[in-house]
Amino acid sequence: MSTEISRYTITAALPYANGPVHIGHLAGCYLPSDIYARYLRKQGRDLIFVCGTDEHGAAINMKAQSEGVQPQEIVDKYHEIIKDSLHSIGVSFDIFSRTSKEIHHHTAQEFFRTMFENGSLEEKVTEQYFDPEAEQFLADRFIIGECPNCHFGEAYGDQCENCGTSLSPTELINPKSKLSGAAPVLKQTRHWFLPLDHLSDKIKAYIQSHKDWKPNVYGQCMSWLDSKDGLQARSMTRDLDWGIPVPVEGADGKVLYVWFDAPIGYISATKELVGERWEDYWKKDDTKLVHFIGKDNIVFHCITFPAMLMEHGGFHLPDEVPANEFLNLEGNKISTSRNWAVWLHEYLADFPGQEDVLRYVLTATAPESKDNDFTWSDFQTRNNSELVAIIGNFVNRVQVLMKKYYDGAIPEPGDFLTVDSEALQETANAPTLIAESLERYRFREGLASMMSLARLGNKYLADQEPWKKIKEDPQRTATIMYVAAQVTAQLSQMMEPFLPFSAEKLRNDLGLDAMAWQDCATQEFLKPGTEIQSQGHLFSKIEDQVIEAQKAKLEQMAAAAKGPVYEPLKEEIQFEDFTKLDLRVGTILKAEKIKKANKLLHLEVDLGFEKRSIVSGIAEFFEPEDIVGTKVSVVVNLAPRKLRGVMSQGMILMAEDSQGNLNFTSTPESMPNGSIIR
Ligand SMILES: [Zn+2]
Repeated sequence: MSTEISRYTITAALPYANGPVHIGHLAGCYLPSDIYARYLRKQGRDLIFVCGTDEHGAAINMKAQSEGVQPQEIVDKYHEIIKDSLHSIGVSFDIFSRTSKEIHHHTAQEFFRTMFENGSLEEKVTEQYFDPEAEQFLADRFIIGECPNCHFGEAYGDQCENCGTSLSPTELINPKSKLSGAAPVLKQTRHWFLPLDHLSDKIKAYIQSHKDWKPNVYGQCMSWLDSKDGLQARSMTRDLDWGIPVPVEGADGKVLYVWFDAPIGYISATKELVGERWEDYWKKDDTKLVHFIGKDNIVFHCITFPAMLMEHGGFHLPDEVPANEFLNLEGNKISTSRNWAVWLHEYLADFPGQEDVLRYVLTATAPESKDNDFTWSDFQTRNNSELVAIIGNFVNRVQVLMKKYYDGAIPEPGDFLTVDSEALQETANAPTLIAESLERYRFREGLASMMSLARLGNKYLADQEPWKKIKEDPQRTATIMYVAAQVTAQLSQMMEPFLPFSAEKLRNDLGLDAMAWQDCATQEFLKPGTEIQSQGHLFSKIEDQVIEAQKAKLEQMAAAAKGPVYEPLKEEIQFEDFTKLDLRVGTILKAEKIKKANKLLHLEVDLGFEKRSIVSGIAEFFEPEDIVGTKVSVVVNLAPRKLRGVMSQGMILMAEDSQGNLNFTSTPESMPNGSIIR
């Protein structure tokens, strides 16, 4: 860190354009990156804050196929939703681009071509699954088959979602193409690999020069580098028709691997934003390059992308990768496939004007060093007992008293007591204290320091009780209100990176501009005589029914996404095993309830050759009078047994769904009783 930093390049992970963003994404990288960017901007630093949607890859292709639309429609739709929602929650990107833009295709192809020409990529011919009917190579996700580990029937070519094992497509038992259902065949194909195995020492030296990285990030990188098999060469191209064409001869039908092109998206977005000056932000060593990501992207940002930059040559390497751990939701992993998520665009629709509440809660509980949990109850508590009760209450009291005593104009203070000087000193110290946390990516700690300032203000007012002194000691009251007003003003500045909407509202009330961070180390923001006003409360209480509604919505969405649960299949049997069953057509002649047995009905069934007494567990689903005359299928050679004192000489066949609901299997009216079923 000997070089003076002249400019910052801040990136937030490119959201994947096959769905909207949820609170886990926000907590993982969008909020921390935004707080950092806002803080640096307030310092007057030269910085760019870039992001955009990641619009390539097999998963987008697959979603398009399953919905019967073109991939372009999918990415157009989600680009808009993601862009709008991140903008609405206040994430202050300088540019939010897309990897489907021409400037990006061009940049990524040029990057690849340079690496190809300088010999950084290894060409290899491998065998991959090919769909003979669809006539195309299959991405791992397009192949399903039986998991060799748990024997789940629909494991993907890269992972079994039932037992979590990572797989390669050739390990699947009875693989099938998701495109055509055909059995895929292995076919030779040529690809270009980034030889991470040979670059391992270079990468290790780079990682080890960053021992100051967050322990979760540094530790994960070193564990890969030191693992038994070490780093493996990784293919940077794919056989796919959606993506950026591989720009070398003989690569028809091949595109760049999505994890090759996506990080280059940061560079393309910079070019789009600043034109020719882009090199300053990517090639100069007095630039600080910071990638904000979630922990699932560590390998791509700390190993693959730096290796690409090194091998291409001429680039400054990432300086910091402050990855967060995962945010869980109500005790469970967030899952888009199970719809166990709070979607940002839905939050914004359900909580209009309460953007800062979500920003506050997600920052206060950010999974900075370990996984953390978001719960709606905690969301409510933090709003009601922190935002409303601490900041909101303090600010409102100052505004109301100022209006009442001085018609809104800051009074001339008298002599300061120690308690006043201390409060003013702490106010002036806040920027330094908060900056120390933000410089080290400790956003929770920074937020806590900002809250301490509000707590100080609250306590100061409660202790000094200006409302008791206004009559007998107006001079003392004026001093107290002057001091309280300065704390309020500092809050309006320090809230800005964390709670930008409320900060702006408060600044407007106080008639203050957004000030440079350095200028906030002051004891006097508002001179005597300055008029302040109030446009209403900064925060409002969230009621129980609002929280209950969110919890119910979450459960409903998850239940709807879950679909039916199927019982595992029984062991295979031989035909002879089946023929042991004697199944016959019958008609229910009589049905009555059995005393003290809620589930059982006693039936008399005509089997043609004889009438039988059968006890059946269907009483919860049928009234006895409704089923008399029903044609049924009966197992007639089951050994008789007594149920609740009633002899049962057979069993009626019933269908049962995953909720345990029963209904008769269909038996044709036209078949006479006693007919054999086989
Ligand atoms: Zn499995």
